[in-house]
Amino acid sequence: MKLLEYQAKKVLLKYNLPIPKGKMVAHPTEVPKALQELNLVKGVAKAQAFTGGRGKAGGIKLFNSPGEAADLTQKFMGLTLVTKQTGPKGTPVHSVLLEEASQIAKEVYVALTLDRAASSLLLIISPEGGMDIEEVAVSSPHRLRKIHLPFPQPLSQAIIKESFDFLELPASTYSEWEHTIQGLYKAYADSDASLLEINPLIVSGQGHLALLDCKFDIDDNALFRQYELGGDPLAELTPAEVEAKKWDLNYIQLDGNIGCMVNGAGLAMATMDTIQIFGGRPANFLDVGGSASEEAVKKAFEIITSDPHVDAILVNIFGGIMQCDKIARGILGAMRSINLKVPLVVRLSGTNSQEGKQIIDTSELTVISADTLADGAQKAVQAARKVA
Ligand code: GDP
Ligand code: MN
Repeated sequence: MKLLEYQAKKVLLKYNLPIPKGKMVAHPTEVPKALQELNLVKGVAKAQAFTGGRGKAGGIKLFNSPGEAADLTQKFMGLTLVTKQTGPKGTPVHSVLLEEASQIAKEVYVALTLDRAASSLLLIISPEGGMDIEEVAVSSPHRLRKIHLPFPQPLSQAIIKESFDFLELPASTYSEWEHTIQGLYKAYADSDASLLEINPLIVSGQGHLALLDCKFDIDDNALFRQYELGGDPLAELTPAEVEAKKWDLNYIQLDGNIGCMVNGAGLAMATMDTIQIFGGRPANFLDVGGSASEEAVKKAFEIITSDPHVDAILVNIFGGIMQCDKIARGILGAMRSINLKVPLVVRLSGTNSQEGKQIIDTSELTVISADTLADGAQKAVQAARKVA
């Protein structure tokens, strides 16, 4: 579960971390009261969305009056932010954070995350804050430092000092840095986080540290004990992903144009890879689960085709306990009932695959059957090209 910036900052405030005062609004009519409570007339309006790079995408703007703040709120609420992270489809704005504007003397990058390969918590820091950290990693890797933390032991003075020096923070902020890194470390652990990223952490015009932006991802497996964080695990999902969840379909929307329906997560990954090898781009990841019943297949088709970018669908099913002839009938039944309009390529393998293929080949519906995964992927790429 990802937290929006304003939710993340609310959590961090409990640790007495230096966060500019602010309030979330979801409608321009809420702006006057919010600014009154904040005792602000000028400030910064920040579109709340599940992406970084909002600044570049026009989602962060300064305002000079409550009227301007209301106008920005109105504008942001209808916005789809297109950033490097979201791809061309973009992501919706959920709300707006109105915040006291900060004067920035220096911006640095600080993140806590898990290094799975090393089974260790990792502190990532860079004195090049405010920028895309992936860019820093490529263009000036020596400006990025990774420090493994001895979780759950307390942070040593050596680590606090090393990170402080590397970030080139002013000497006068040492105790603020110590308080900040300790607070972030504790917040990360208490929240079962998988990422806590502050970019930028700033030195203000007055020479104090402040956390200007925050990304906070919580491990979904811990949500049963993290409901107090105030996040909504469904908020970051697209409507199609929410629908898929209701049906226990494992679906993730992507930005290609070839819809995929596969049973088994590993096979679904292999299917997406194979599509890419043959020059196509998958529109989604979808694991229909072990049974691939006609009901599930029908729902899966509806969800896949609710994405207007889908130009062709590749079905790749391995019949194990479930036999391919039954799956073939299920696919045809589902096609008839939802009146599928995009070309469909079907590859069935496993128990009764010959019977399944025959049912597909002799039906009155236009289905392209394929023998192997490579064959299916090529045919799907070709079919999508004809449509697009
Ligand atoms: P992101 O683009 O989604 O990462 O959003 P951020 O909250 O990090 O804002 C992007 C950039 O906008 C920051 O790196 C700052 O340079 C700038 N910014 C954000 N808030 C303020 C502010 O209060 N004052 C000033 N001067 N700049 C700000
Ligand atoms: Mn940022």
